[in-house]
Amino acid sequence: MEQQILPAANKCNNIVIVGGGTAGWMSAAALAKTLKGKYRITLVESDQIGTIGVGEATIPMIRHFNNILGIDESDFMRATQGTFKLGIEFVNWGQIGDRYIHGFGSIGQETFTVDFYQYWLKHHQAGKVSGLDHFSINTAACLQNKFITAQTDMPNSPLGQIAHAYHFDAGLYAKFLRQFSEALGVVRVEGKIKHVGVRPQDGHINAIVLENGQEIEGDLFIDCSGFRALLIEEALHTGYEDWSHWLPCDTAIAVPCASAPELTPYTRSTAHAAGWQWRIPLQHRIGNGHVFCSKYMSTDEATSILLNNLDGQALAEPRPVKFQTGRRKKAWNKNCVAVGLSCGFIEPLESTSIHLIQQSIIHLISHFPSAGFDAADQQHYNEVMSNEYQWARDFIILHYKATERSDSPFWDYCRQMEIPESLQQKMDLFLSNGRTYREGNELFAKPSWLQVMYGQRMRPQSYNPLVDLISEQETQQYLSDVEELIRKCVNAMPTHAAFIAGYCPANPPA
Ligand code: FAD
Repeated sequence: MEQQILPAANKCNNIVIVGGGTAGWMSAAALAKTLKGKYRITLVESDQIGTIGVGEATIPMIRHFNNILGIDESDFMRATQGTFKLGIEFVNWGQIGDRYIHGFGSIGQETFTVDFYQYWLKHHQAGKVSGLDHFSINTAACLQNKFITAQTDMPNSPLGQIAHAYHFDAGLYAKFLRQFSEALGVVRVEGKIKHVGVRPQDGHINAIVLENGQEIEGDLFIDCSGFRALLIEEALHTGYEDWSHWLPCDTAIAVPCASAPELTPYTRSTAHAAGWQWRIPLQHRIGNGHVFCSKYMSTDEATSILLNNLDGQALAEPRPVKFQTGRRKKAWNKNCVAVGLSCGFIEPLESTSIHLIQQSIIHLISHFPSAGFDAADQQHYNEVMSNEYQWARDFIILHYKATERSDSPFWDYCRQMEIPESLQQKMDLFLSNGRTYREGNELFAKPSWLQVMYGQRMRPQSYNPLVDLISEQETQQYLSDVEELIRKCVNAMPTHAAFIAGYCPANPPA
Protein backbone atom coordinates (compact mmCIF):
# COMPACT_ATOMS: atom_id res chain seq x y z
CA MET A 1 0.00 0.00 0.00
CA GLU A 2 1.30 3.50 -0.89
CA GLN A 3 1.81 5.91 2.02
CA GLN A 4 -0.02 9.25 1.44
CA ILE A 5 1.76 11.51 3.86
CA LEU A 6 -0.09 14.39 5.54
CA PRO A 7 1.12 18.02 5.04
CA ALA A 8 4.25 19.05 6.93
CA ALA A 9 2.27 21.11 9.47
CA ASN A 10 1.80 17.86 11.36
CA LYS A 11 5.11 17.50 13.13
CA CYS A 12 4.76 13.76 13.61
CA ASN A 13 4.66 12.80 9.95
CA ASN A 14 7.77 10.73 10.14
CA ILE A 15 7.72 7.84 12.56
CA VAL A 16 10.94 5.90 12.95
CA ILE A 17 10.88 2.57 14.75
CA VAL A 18 14.29 1.34 15.86
CA GLY A 19 14.38 -2.46 16.18
CA GLY A 20 12.67 -5.38 14.50
CA GLY A 21 11.98 -7.76 17.36
CA THR A 22 8.52 -8.49 18.73
CA ALA A 23 8.23 -4.90 20.03
CA GLY A 24 9.32 -3.32 16.75
CA TRP A 25 7.04 -5.30 14.49
CA MET A 26 4.06 -5.14 16.85
CA SER A 27 4.48 -1.35 16.93
CA ALA A 28 4.84 -1.17 13.15
CA ALA A 29 1.78 -3.35 12.54
CA ALA A 30 -0.51 -1.51 14.96
CA LEU A 31 0.59 1.96 13.86
CA ALA A 32 0.36 1.07 10.17
CA LYS A 33 -3.17 -0.25 10.67
CA THR A 34 -4.27 2.73 12.77
CA LEU A 35 -2.60 5.53 10.81
CA LYS A 36 -4.06 4.29 7.50
CA GLY A 37 -1.05 5.16 5.34
CA LYS A 38 -1.18 8.88 6.22
CA TYR A 39 2.10 8.85 8.12
CA ARG A 40 5.50 7.65 7.00
CA ILE A 41 6.61 4.66 9.08
CA THR A 42 10.17 3.40 8.77
CA LEU A 43 11.56 0.47 10.73
CA VAL A 44 15.30 0.00 11.09
CA GLU A 45 16.73 -3.32 12.17
CA SER A 46 20.00 -5.16 11.99
CA ASP A 47 20.14 -8.81 10.96
CA GLN A 48 23.71 -8.81 12.22
CA ILE A 49 22.56 -8.00 15.76
CA GLY A 50 19.37 -10.08 15.59
CA THR A 51 16.58 -10.26 18.16
CA ILE A 52 16.46 -11.70 21.67
CA GLY A 53 14.69 -14.78 20.29
CA VAL A 54 12.66 -15.61 23.41
CA GLY A 55 9.16 -14.50 24.46
CA GLU A 56 6.81 -17.21 23.27
CA ALA A 57 4.02 -17.33 25.85
CA THR A 58 1.21 -14.78 26.07
CA ILE A 59 -1.91 -13.91 28.05
CA PRO A 60 -5.46 -13.67 26.66
CA MET A 61 -5.39 -9.91 25.98
CA ILE A 62 -3.23 -10.56 22.92
CA ARG A 63 -6.42 -11.61 21.18
CA HIS A 64 -7.61 -8.02 21.51
CA PHE A 65 -4.42 -6.86 19.76
CA ASN A 66 -4.90 -9.36 16.94
CA ASN A 67 -8.52 -8.24 16.59
CA ILE A 68 -7.42 -4.61 16.21
CA LEU A 69 -5.13 -5.73 13.39
CA GLY A 70 -7.86 -7.91 11.89
CA ILE A 71 -5.66 -11.01 12.01
CA ASP A 72 -7.32 -14.34 11.35
CA GLU A 73 -6.57 -16.64 14.28
CA SER A 74 -6.01 -19.85 12.36
CA ASP A 75 -3.71 -18.11 9.80
CA PHE A 76 -1.70 -16.64 12.64
CA MET A 77 -1.44 -19.99 14.46
CA ARG A 78 -0.33 -21.85 11.34
CA ALA A 79 2.28 -19.20 10.52
CA THR A 80 3.83 -19.22 14.00
CA GLN A 81 3.68 -22.97 14.89
CA GLY A 82 1.25 -21.77 17.55
CA THR A 83 -0.53 -23.70 20.28
CA PHE A 84 -3.21 -22.63 22.74
CA LYS A 85 -2.61 -21.62 26.32
CA LEU A 86 -5.26 -21.85 29.04
CA GLY A 87 -3.01 -20.99 31.97
CA ILE A 88 0.27 -21.74 33.71
CA GLU A 89 1.08 -24.75 35.84
CA PHE A 90 3.31 -23.89 38.81
CA VAL A 91 5.36 -26.76 40.20
CA ASN A 92 7.38 -26.65 43.47
CA TRP A 93 6.52 -23.03 44.27
CA GLY A 94 4.81 -23.17 47.69
CA GLN A 95 6.79 -26.24 48.76
CA ILE A 96 8.75 -28.84 46.78
CA GLY A 97 6.14 -31.28 45.43
CA ASP A 98 3.33 -28.68 45.20
CA ARG A 99 1.45 -28.16 41.95
CA TYR A 100 -1.27 -25.71 41.05
CA ILE A 101 -2.57 -24.09 37.88
CA HIS A 102 -3.22 -20.41 37.37
CA GLY A 103 -5.99 -20.76 34.81
CA PHE A 104 -7.18 -17.74 32.83
CA GLY A 105 -10.79 -16.64 33.09
CA SER A 106 -13.29 -17.02 35.87
CA ILE A 107 -13.69 -19.28 38.89
CA GLY A 108 -17.13 -20.81 39.28
CA GLN A 109 -19.80 -18.40 38.16
CA GLU A 110 -19.81 -14.61 37.90
CA THR A 111 -21.77 -13.09 40.79
CA PHE A 112 -22.63 -9.46 41.45
CA THR A 113 -22.54 -9.59 45.21
CA VAL A 114 -20.43 -12.02 47.22
CA ASP A 115 -17.73 -13.59 45.03
CA PHE A 116 -18.33 -17.24 44.11
CA TYR A 117 -14.97 -18.25 45.52
CA GLN A 118 -15.99 -17.04 48.99
CA TYR A 119 -18.55 -19.89 49.14
CA TRP A 120 -15.88 -22.26 47.94
CA LEU A 121 -13.42 -20.92 50.53
CA LYS A 122 -15.73 -21.58 53.46
CA HIS A 123 -16.43 -25.13 52.36
CA HIS A 124 -12.87 -25.87 51.36
CA GLN A 125 -11.55 -24.71 54.70
CA ALA A 126 -14.03 -27.14 56.26
CA GLY A 127 -12.78 -29.93 53.98
CA LYS A 128 -16.19 -30.31 52.29
CA VAL A 129 -15.42 -29.46 48.69
CA SER A 130 -12.85 -30.25 45.96
CA GLY A 131 -9.89 -27.99 45.11
CA LEU A 132 -10.11 -24.76 43.16
CA ASP A 133 -9.03 -26.54 39.96
CA HIS A 134 -12.48 -28.19 39.75
CA PHE A 135 -14.14 -24.78 39.53
CA SER A 136 -12.25 -23.25 36.62
CA ILE A 137 -13.10 -24.57 33.16
CA ASN A 138 -9.63 -23.49 31.98
CA THR A 139 -7.80 -25.38 34.72
CA ALA A 140 -10.01 -28.45 34.52
CA ALA A 141 -9.32 -28.58 30.76
CA CYS A 142 -5.54 -28.19 31.33
CA LEU A 143 -5.57 -31.21 33.64
CA GLN A 144 -6.97 -33.35 30.81
CA ASN A 145 -5.05 -31.71 27.93
CA LYS A 146 -8.36 -30.62 26.41
CA PHE A 147 -9.03 -27.48 24.40
CA ILE A 148 -11.77 -25.66 22.55
CA THR A 149 -12.26 -21.95 21.90
CA ALA A 150 -15.04 -20.20 23.86
CA GLN A 151 -18.46 -21.13 22.53
CA THR A 152 -19.87 -17.64 22.05
CA ASP A 153 -23.39 -18.95 21.45
CA MET A 154 -23.37 -20.44 24.98
CA PRO A 155 -22.67 -17.38 27.18
CA ASN A 156 -24.10 -18.96 30.32
CA SER A 157 -22.20 -22.22 30.02
CA PRO A 158 -18.59 -22.67 31.22
CA LEU A 159 -17.90 -23.45 27.54
CA GLY A 160 -18.75 -19.82 26.77
CA GLN A 161 -16.25 -18.59 29.35
CA ILE A 162 -13.03 -20.25 28.20
CA ALA A 163 -10.26 -17.65 28.04
CA HIS A 164 -7.30 -18.54 25.86
CA ALA A 165 -3.93 -17.11 24.89
CA TYR A 166 -1.16 -18.48 22.67
CA HIS A 167 2.28 -19.99 22.61
CA PHE A 168 4.16 -19.20 19.41
CA ASP A 169 7.62 -19.11 17.86
CA ALA A 170 8.92 -15.57 18.49
CA GLY A 171 10.96 -15.47 15.27
CA LEU A 172 7.98 -16.56 13.18
CA TYR A 173 5.73 -14.06 14.95
CA ALA A 174 8.06 -11.16 14.02
CA LYS A 175 8.18 -12.48 10.43
CA PHE A 176 4.37 -12.70 10.29
CA LEU A 177 3.98 -9.14 11.56
CA ARG A 178 6.68 -7.92 9.19
CA GLN A 179 4.74 -9.22 6.18
CA PHE A 180 1.56 -7.66 7.58
CA SER A 181 3.27 -4.28 8.17
CA GLU A 182 5.08 -4.12 4.84
CA ALA A 183 1.80 -4.83 3.06
CA LEU A 184 0.45 -1.70 4.79
CA GLY A 185 3.37 0.43 3.58
CA VAL A 186 5.92 0.22 6.41
CA VAL A 187 9.42 0.66 4.98
CA ARG A 188 12.08 -1.62 6.47
CA VAL A 189 15.68 -0.48 6.43
CA GLU A 190 18.42 -3.00 7.12
CA GLY A 191 21.45 -1.60 8.91
CA LYS A 192 23.30 -1.11 12.13
CA ILE A 193 22.83 2.20 13.92
CA LYS A 194 26.12 3.94 14.66
CA HIS A 195 24.95 7.28 15.96
CA VAL A 196 21.80 8.96 17.29
CA GLY A 197 21.58 12.69 16.56
CA VAL A 198 20.10 14.92 19.28
CA ARG A 199 19.08 18.56 18.64
CA PRO A 200 20.98 20.87 20.98
CA GLN A 201 18.10 23.37 21.32
CA ASP A 202 15.52 20.99 22.86
CA GLY A 203 17.24 17.64 23.31
CA HIS A 204 14.91 15.88 20.85
CA ILE A 205 16.26 13.16 18.59
CA ASN A 206 16.39 14.37 14.99
CA ALA A 207 17.99 11.48 13.13
CA ILE A 208 19.71 8.13 13.37
CA VAL A 209 22.82 7.41 11.36
CA LEU A 210 23.65 3.92 10.12
CA GLU A 211 27.11 2.40 9.77
CA ASN A 212 26.89 2.78 5.96
CA GLY A 213 26.38 6.55 6.42
CA GLN A 214 22.63 6.57 5.67
CA GLU A 215 20.82 9.14 7.81
CA ILE A 216 17.16 8.62 8.72
CA GLU A 217 15.33 11.67 10.03
CA GLY A 218 12.17 11.45 12.08
CA ASP A 219 9.65 13.39 14.18
CA LEU A 220 8.61 10.60 16.54
CA PHE A 221 11.06 7.81 17.41
CA ILE A 222 9.97 4.52 18.88
CA ASP A 223 12.80 2.76 20.66
CA CYS A 224 12.39 -0.99 20.23
CA SER A 225 16.11 -1.71 20.37
CA GLY A 226 15.75 -4.20 23.21
CA PHE A 227 17.98 -4.19 26.29
CA ARG A 228 20.41 -1.87 24.45
CA ALA A 229 17.87 0.99 24.75
CA LEU A 230 19.83 2.91 22.10
CA LEU A 231 17.59 5.96 22.01
CA ILE A 232 15.77 6.23 25.33
CA GLU A 233 18.90 5.55 27.41
CA GLU A 234 22.09 5.81 25.38
CA ALA A 235 20.99 9.03 23.65
CA LEU A 236 18.51 10.55 26.13
CA HIS A 237 19.86 9.23 29.48
CA THR A 238 16.36 8.70 30.86
CA GLY A 239 17.37 6.53 33.83
CA TYR A 240 16.26 3.08 35.03
CA GLU A 241 14.41 2.05 38.17
CA ASP A 242 16.03 -1.14 39.40
CA TRP A 243 13.65 -3.77 40.86
CA SER A 244 16.18 -6.53 41.37
CA HIS A 245 15.85 -6.36 45.17
CA TRP A 246 12.28 -7.66 44.66
CA LEU A 247 12.91 -9.75 41.56
CA PRO A 248 16.50 -10.94 41.96
CA CYS A 249 16.74 -13.36 39.00
CA ASP A 250 19.12 -11.84 36.45
CA THR A 251 19.99 -14.58 33.94
CA ALA A 252 18.14 -17.04 31.72
CA ILE A 253 19.45 -20.00 29.75
CA ALA A 254 17.17 -20.88 26.83
CA VAL A 255 17.10 -24.10 24.81
CA PRO A 256 14.47 -25.69 22.53
CA CYS A 257 13.88 -29.44 22.68
CA ALA A 258 11.91 -32.09 20.78
CA SER A 259 8.16 -32.34 21.38
CA ALA A 260 6.55 -34.66 23.93
CA PRO A 261 3.79 -37.16 23.01
CA GLU A 262 1.04 -35.09 24.73
CA LEU A 263 0.45 -31.49 23.58
CA THR A 264 -0.35 -29.59 26.77
CA PRO A 265 -2.50 -26.43 26.56
CA TYR A 266 -0.53 -24.55 29.21
CA THR A 267 2.89 -23.19 30.07
CA ARG A 268 4.72 -24.94 32.91
CA SER A 269 6.89 -23.13 35.43
CA THR A 270 8.95 -25.36 37.70
CA ALA A 271 10.76 -23.74 40.62
CA HIS A 272 14.36 -24.84 41.23
CA ALA A 273 16.86 -23.93 43.97
CA ALA A 274 17.64 -20.41 42.67
CA GLY A 275 14.91 -19.65 40.15
CA TRP A 276 12.57 -21.53 37.85
CA GLN A 277 12.27 -23.27 34.50
CA TRP A 278 9.75 -22.56 31.74
CA ARG A 279 8.27 -25.09 29.34
CA ILE A 280 6.35 -23.75 26.36
CA PRO A 281 4.95 -26.38 23.95
CA LEU A 282 4.73 -25.37 20.28
CA GLN A 283 3.57 -27.50 17.36
CA HIS A 284 7.12 -28.32 16.19
CA ARG A 285 9.16 -28.15 19.41
CA ILE A 286 9.13 -27.19 23.09
CA GLY A 287 10.74 -23.93 24.25
CA ASN A 288 12.55 -24.20 27.58
CA GLY A 289 14.54 -21.89 29.76
CA HIS A 290 15.97 -21.65 33.26
CA VAL A 291 15.62 -18.22 34.86
CA PHE A 292 17.91 -17.90 37.88
CA CYS A 293 19.77 -15.56 40.18
CA SER A 294 23.51 -15.56 39.45
CA LYS A 295 24.25 -14.61 43.06
CA TYR A 296 23.04 -18.04 44.16
CA MET A 297 23.82 -20.29 41.18
CA SER A 298 26.48 -20.54 38.48
CA THR A 299 25.62 -20.62 34.79
CA ASP A 300 27.09 -24.14 34.50
CA GLU A 301 24.87 -25.45 37.29
CA ALA A 302 21.78 -23.70 35.88
CA THR A 303 22.50 -25.15 32.42
CA SER A 304 22.92 -28.63 33.78
CA ILE A 305 19.59 -28.41 35.72
CA LEU A 306 17.88 -27.21 32.56
CA LEU A 307 19.28 -29.96 30.34
CA ASN A 308 18.39 -32.61 32.92
CA ASN A 309 14.77 -31.49 32.93
CA LEU A 310 13.83 -31.51 29.25
CA ASP A 311 11.07 -33.63 27.71
CA GLY A 312 13.13 -34.51 24.66
CA GLN A 313 16.45 -34.07 22.92
CA ALA A 314 17.90 -30.53 23.01
CA LEU A 315 17.68 -29.02 19.52
CA ALA A 316 20.30 -26.27 19.94
CA GLU A 317 23.09 -25.12 22.20
CA PRO A 318 21.81 -23.56 25.46
CA ARG A 319 21.94 -19.76 25.15
CA PRO A 320 22.39 -17.40 28.11
CA VAL A 321 20.56 -14.03 28.36
CA LYS A 322 21.44 -11.50 31.07
CA PHE A 323 18.85 -8.99 32.32
CA GLN A 324 18.09 -6.54 35.07
CA THR A 325 14.49 -6.33 36.26
CA GLY A 326 13.04 -2.84 36.41
CA ARG A 327 11.67 -0.13 34.18
CA ARG A 328 12.73 3.04 32.43
CA LYS A 329 11.95 6.09 34.60
CA LYS A 330 9.99 7.60 31.72
CA ALA A 331 8.55 5.43 28.96
CA TRP A 332 8.16 8.59 26.85
CA ASN A 333 10.99 11.13 26.96
CA LYS A 334 11.23 14.10 24.54
CA ASN A 335 10.18 12.71 21.12
CA CYS A 336 11.04 9.11 21.95
CA VAL A 337 8.74 6.37 23.26
CA ALA A 338 10.34 3.16 24.53
CA VAL A 339 8.45 -0.05 23.77
CA GLY A 340 9.48 -3.57 24.76
CA LEU A 341 12.69 -4.45 26.56
CA SER A 342 14.05 -0.90 26.09
CA CYS A 343 11.18 0.25 28.33
CA GLY A 344 11.64 -2.34 31.06
CA PHE A 345 11.62 -5.99 31.94
CA ILE A 346 9.91 -7.68 34.82
CA GLU A 347 10.39 -11.41 34.33
CA PRO A 348 8.73 -13.94 32.05
CA LEU A 349 7.01 -15.77 34.94
CA GLU A 350 3.45 -14.67 34.02
CA SER A 351 4.17 -13.92 30.34
CA THR A 352 3.47 -10.21 30.77
CA SER A 353 6.13 -8.64 28.49
CA ILE A 354 4.33 -8.99 25.17
CA HIS A 355 1.22 -7.70 26.90
CA LEU A 356 3.16 -4.65 28.12
CA ILE A 357 4.32 -4.05 24.53
CA GLN A 358 0.69 -4.18 23.45
CA GLN A 359 -0.33 -1.73 26.20
CA SER A 360 2.52 0.66 25.31
CA ILE A 361 1.25 0.79 21.72
CA ILE A 362 -2.43 1.07 22.60
CA HIS A 363 -1.73 3.90 25.06
CA LEU A 364 0.56 5.59 22.52
CA ILE A 365 -2.25 5.54 19.99
CA SER A 366 -4.63 7.13 22.48
CA HIS A 367 -1.99 9.76 23.46
CA PHE A 368 -0.76 10.22 19.89
CA PRO A 369 1.07 13.57 19.56
CA SER A 370 -0.50 16.04 17.13
CA ALA A 371 1.35 19.20 16.15
CA GLY A 372 3.91 18.97 18.91
CA PHE A 373 4.82 17.13 22.04
CA ASP A 374 2.51 18.34 24.79
CA ALA A 375 3.92 17.90 28.26
CA ALA A 376 0.48 16.90 29.60
CA ASP A 377 0.16 14.05 27.08
CA GLN A 378 3.60 12.73 27.90
CA GLN A 379 3.11 13.00 31.62
CA HIS A 380 -0.18 11.15 31.49
CA TYR A 381 1.23 8.46 29.22
CA ASN A 382 4.12 7.97 31.62
CA GLU A 383 1.76 7.65 34.58
CA VAL A 384 -0.40 5.13 32.76
CA MET A 385 2.62 3.06 31.74
CA SER A 386 4.09 3.25 35.21
CA ASN A 387 0.87 1.73 36.56
CA GLU A 388 0.92 -1.00 33.93
CA TYR A 389 4.43 -2.07 34.91
CA GLN A 390 3.77 -1.79 38.62
CA TRP A 391 0.65 -3.96 38.49
CA ALA A 392 2.49 -6.71 36.65
CA ARG A 393 5.50 -6.36 38.96
CA ASP A 394 3.48 -6.83 42.17
CA PHE A 395 1.75 -9.93 40.88
CA ILE A 396 5.06 -11.51 39.94
CA ILE A 397 6.74 -10.64 43.24
CA LEU A 398 3.86 -12.44 44.97
CA HIS A 399 5.06 -15.77 43.52
CA TYR A 400 8.46 -15.38 45.17
CA LYS A 401 7.26 -13.94 48.46
CA ALA A 402 4.34 -16.29 49.15
CA THR A 403 6.39 -19.43 49.59
CA GLU A 404 7.18 -21.82 52.41
CA ARG A 405 10.35 -23.03 50.72
CA SER A 406 13.38 -22.87 52.97
CA ASP A 407 15.63 -25.31 51.14
CA SER A 408 18.07 -22.78 49.64
CA PRO A 409 19.52 -19.33 50.37
CA PHE A 410 17.62 -17.99 47.34
CA TRP A 411 14.22 -18.99 48.73
CA ASP A 412 15.20 -17.78 52.20
CA TYR A 413 15.93 -14.39 50.68
CA CYS A 414 12.65 -14.30 48.72
CA ARG A 415 10.52 -15.42 51.66
CA GLN A 416 11.99 -12.81 53.97
CA MET A 417 12.43 -9.86 51.58
CA GLU A 418 10.61 -6.55 52.01
CA ILE A 419 7.92 -6.14 49.37
CA PRO A 420 6.17 -3.06 47.92
CA GLU A 421 3.47 -1.63 50.18
CA SER A 422 0.91 -2.07 47.37
CA LEU A 423 1.52 -5.84 47.40
CA GLN A 424 1.68 -6.11 51.18
CA GLN A 425 -1.82 -4.61 51.39
CA LYS A 426 -3.17 -7.19 48.95
CA MET A 427 -1.60 -10.05 50.87
CA ASP A 428 -2.90 -8.75 54.23
CA LEU A 429 -6.39 -8.36 52.81
CA PHE A 430 -6.40 -11.93 51.55
CA LEU A 431 -4.99 -13.38 54.75
CA SER A 432 -7.75 -11.86 56.85
CA ASN A 433 -10.99 -12.76 55.04
CA GLY A 434 -9.86 -14.13 51.70
CA ARG A 435 -10.70 -10.96 49.80
CA THR A 436 -9.01 -10.05 46.55
CA TYR A 437 -9.55 -6.80 44.71
CA ARG A 438 -8.79 -5.41 41.29
CA GLU A 439 -7.58 -1.81 41.49
CA GLY A 440 -8.61 0.33 38.51
CA ASN A 441 -7.65 -1.30 35.24
CA GLU A 442 -5.18 -3.60 36.95
CA LEU A 443 -3.99 -6.37 34.63
CA PHE A 444 -4.69 -9.42 36.78
CA ALA A 445 -8.24 -9.90 38.01
CA LYS A 446 -9.48 -11.45 41.27
CA PRO A 447 -9.34 -15.10 40.12
CA SER A 448 -5.66 -14.73 39.23
CA TRP A 449 -4.71 -13.35 42.64
CA LEU A 450 -6.82 -16.02 44.34
CA GLN A 451 -5.29 -18.92 42.44
CA VAL A 452 -1.71 -17.84 43.05
CA MET A 453 -2.23 -16.90 46.70
CA TYR A 454 -4.08 -20.09 47.52
CA GLY A 455 -1.84 -22.17 45.28
CA GLN A 456 1.18 -20.90 47.21
CA ARG A 457 -0.26 -21.90 50.56
CA MET A 458 -1.64 -18.57 51.78
CA ARG A 459 -4.66 -19.44 53.93
CA PRO A 460 -7.14 -16.75 55.03
CA GLN A 461 -8.24 -16.72 58.67
CA SER A 462 -11.88 -16.50 57.63
CA TYR A 463 -14.24 -15.61 54.76
CA ASN A 464 -16.88 -13.03 53.90
CA PRO A 465 -19.53 -13.42 56.64
CA LEU A 466 -22.33 -12.86 54.11
CA VAL A 467 -21.64 -16.37 52.86
CA ASP A 468 -23.41 -17.60 56.00
CA LEU A 469 -26.68 -16.06 54.79
CA ILE A 470 -27.10 -19.14 52.62
CA SER A 471 -27.54 -22.49 54.31
CA GLU A 472 -24.73 -25.04 54.34
CA GLN A 473 -26.82 -27.51 52.41
CA GLU A 474 -27.80 -25.03 49.72
CA THR A 475 -24.19 -23.87 49.26
CA GLN A 476 -22.96 -27.44 49.12
CA GLN A 477 -25.50 -28.25 46.41
CA TYR A 478 -24.62 -25.10 44.47
CA LEU A 479 -20.89 -25.92 44.54
CA SER A 480 -21.37 -29.51 43.47
CA ASP A 481 -23.68 -28.44 40.62
CA VAL A 482 -21.04 -26.05 39.28
CA GLU A 483 -18.30 -28.66 39.65
CA GLU A 484 -20.39 -31.26 37.83
CA LEU A 485 -21.23 -28.86 35.01
CA ILE A 486 -17.56 -28.02 34.46
CA ARG A 487 -16.64 -31.70 34.53
CA LYS A 488 -19.24 -32.52 31.85
CA CYS A 489 -18.12 -29.62 29.66
CA VAL A 490 -14.46 -30.68 29.82
CA ASN A 491 -15.35 -34.30 29.03
CA ALA A 492 -17.06 -33.08 25.86
CA MET A 493 -14.04 -31.06 24.66
CA PRO A 494 -11.54 -32.39 22.11
CA THR A 495 -7.91 -32.84 23.07
CA HIS A 496 -5.64 -29.89 22.45
CA ALA A 497 -3.77 -31.84 19.75
CA ALA A 498 -7.01 -32.85 17.99
CA PHE A 499 -8.31 -29.28 18.06
CA ILE A 500 -5.11 -27.93 16.50
CA ALA A 501 -5.04 -30.69 13.88
CA GLY A 502 -8.51 -29.64 12.74
CA TYR A 503 -8.20 -25.87 13.07
CA CYS A 504 -4.67 -24.61 12.50
CA PRO A 505 -2.04 -27.27 11.72
CA ALA A 506 1.25 -25.60 10.81
CA ASN A 507 3.40 -26.71 7.92
CA PRO A 508 6.33 -28.82 9.06
CA PRO A 509 9.34 -26.55 9.69
CA ALA A 510 11.59 -26.01 6.65
P1 FAD B 1 14.72 -7.56 20.79
O1 FAD B 1 14.05 -8.81 20.37
O2 FAD B 1 16.02 -7.65 21.48
O3 FAD B 1 14.84 -6.65 19.51
C1 FAD B 1 15.74 -5.57 19.43
C2 FAD B 1 15.85 -5.11 18.01
O4 FAD B 1 16.68 -3.96 17.96
C3 FAD B 1 16.48 -6.14 17.07
O5 FAD B 1 15.80 -6.14 15.83
C4 FAD B 1 17.89 -5.62 16.88
O6 FAD B 1 18.44 -6.01 15.65
C5 FAD B 1 17.62 -4.13 16.93
N1 FAD B 1 18.82 -3.36 17.26
C6 FAD B 1 19.49 -3.30 18.43
N2 FAD B 1 20.57 -2.53 18.31
C7 FAD B 1 20.59 -2.08 17.04
C8 FAD B 1 21.48 -1.26 16.28
N3 FAD B 1 22.59 -0.73 16.80
N4 FAD B 1 21.19 -1.02 14.98
C9 FAD B 1 20.06 -1.55 14.41
N5 FAD B 1 19.21 -2.35 15.07
C10 FAD B 1 19.48 -2.61 16.36
N6 FAD B 1 7.69 -12.10 26.99
C11 FAD B 1 6.48 -12.69 26.99
O7 FAD B 1 5.47 -12.00 26.81
N7 FAD B 1 6.37 -14.03 27.18
C12 FAD B 1 7.43 -14.81 27.44
O8 FAD B 1 7.28 -16.02 27.57
C13 FAD B 1 8.71 -14.20 27.54
N8 FAD B 1 9.81 -14.91 27.84
C14 FAD B 1 11.01 -14.27 27.98
C15 FAD B 1 12.13 -14.96 28.44
C16 FAD B 1 13.34 -14.28 28.63
C17 FAD B 1 14.52 -15.00 29.16
C18 FAD B 1 13.44 -12.90 28.33
C19 FAD B 1 14.73 -12.16 28.50
C20 FAD B 1 12.34 -12.23 27.85
C21 FAD B 1 11.12 -12.88 27.70
N9 FAD B 1 10.00 -12.20 27.29
C22 FAD B 1 8.79 -12.81 27.27
C23 FAD B 1 10.11 -10.83 26.84
C24 FAD B 1 10.11 -10.81 25.31
O9 FAD B 1 11.15 -11.63 24.82
C25 FAD B 1 10.31 -9.40 24.81
O10 FAD B 1 9.40 -8.54 25.43
C26 FAD B 1 10.07 -9.34 23.32
O11 FAD B 1 10.82 -10.29 22.65
C27 FAD B 1 10.40 -7.96 22.80
O12 FAD B 1 11.77 -7.78 22.64
P2 FAD B 1 12.23 -6.45 21.91
O13 FAD B 1 11.60 -6.39 20.58
O14 FAD B 1 12.00 -5.31 22.85
O15 FAD B 1 13.80 -6.64 21.80
